[in-house]
Amino acid sequence: MAVQQNRVTRSRRNMRRSHDALVAANPNECTNCGELKRPHHVCPSCGHYNDREVVARAGDVDLEDDAA
Ligand SMILES: [Zn+2]
Repeated sequence: MAVQQNRVTRSRRNMRRSHDALVAANPNECTNCGELKRPHHVCPSCGHYNDREVVARAGDVDLEDDAA
């Protein structure tokens, strides 16, 4: 097992951790429904991406319609 040769001071430990902070998400508005969504992701509330419906919401699917 590797054993560290030198003690890491709290200064050096904290300098290492200076890059560990989490950054806040940067949501933008869906162009279809206006809901906030993650950039480059399908809108979770309306299922649109690039002004096109790509994912049908569970409530909107008509199971009687035998399209598939
Ligand atoms: Zn949307």
